[in-house]
Amino acid sequence: RAKEEGGARAQRYLAAMQDVITSRLALEKNLRKALERGEFVLHYQPKVDIRTGAVTGMEALVRWVRDDGTIVPPQDFIPVAEKTGLIVALGEFVLREACRQMHAWQKRFGRLKMAVNISARQFQPGLPDTVASALADAGLDPGLLELEITETTMMRDLALTVSVLERLTTGGIAVAIDDFGTGHSSLYYLKTFPISSIKIDRSFVRDIPNDETDATIVTTVVSMGRNLGIGIVAEGVETEAQLDFLRSLECPEVQGYYFSKPLPPHAFEAWMENRLRV
Ligand code: C2E
Ligand code: MG
Ligand code: MG
Ligand code: MG
Repeated sequence: RAKEEGGARAQRYLAAMQDVITSRLALEKNLRKALERGEFVLHYQPKVDIRTGAVTGMEALVRWVRDDGTIVPPQDFIPVAEKTGLIVALGEFVLREACRQMHAWQKRFGRLKMAVNISARQFQPGLPDTVASALADAGLDPGLLELEITETTMMRDLALTVSVLERLTTGGIAVAIDDFGTGHSSLYYLKTFPISSIKIDRSFVRDIPNDETDATIVTTVVSMGRNLGIGIVAEGVETEAQLDFLRSLECPEVQGYYFSKPLPPHAFEAWMENRLRV
């Protein structure tokens, strides 16, 4: 009996594994097709100067618009794109599209900084050339591009990180540490890598000013950034209370739903126009 049950359990387990593999393969195939069919779009979320309220730039965030119009968020496909290596082609599309868009917006909204997320698989010796080619084809000034890279990506191979970041920043591109505080936070790389800014992860911003630990962490990171001459962006700002606290710390830049969710290009333009009017 027990043996039979064990066998049945193993059967079910294998069947479940099959399903996981099959659906992952299906997703991989669909992602490849989606890229060919141009189903990936970028949404843009503004970054704001806390002192003046001016928009300093925007972050490009990829979405997959399926046939039926449903929008798939990045957490549902970026991990698979990373595992299969498709992220390299997808990431290049994102880079090119963001550069093209910023070039088009520059005449209308001025010199704003376009931030693009770079995943670990894209962080390779060829990245500076890929970025240079995207900039050149779009006709965009490298000074208007910023790459957001996580701590985890930067810590994988220190020699590679130093050489890639040096080539990027020599070309005038800015580099931000994304999700700061969630990886292997090390003060070493603040001193070693050419970093222009740090983005304090949303998880530390969520419970300020009430959570004393988070309030202390955010206070410390903001003052460290100031002392090192590095820009600080607080991510995930949703409330007036969070904003007031960040303002009291003189945190230079903020980003979050309080100002705007990531918006498709037309809605982002309308948001910008509306803001310029007030
Ligand atoms: P991230 O780069 O840290 O982006 C911030 C995420 O937080 C975005 O989610 C954004 O919509 C969300 N967010 C911003 N403000 C708020 C807020 O006030 N409250 C809350 N609850 N959320 C807020 P999204 O767009 O779903 O992206 C998630 C992650 O997917 C990104 O995290 C990034 O790691 C990755 N991702 C997005 N686009 C790309 C891309 O083009 N390439 C790569 N490699 N990764 C991307
Ligand atoms: Mg980011
Ligand atoms: Mg982030
Ligand atoms: Mg994040």
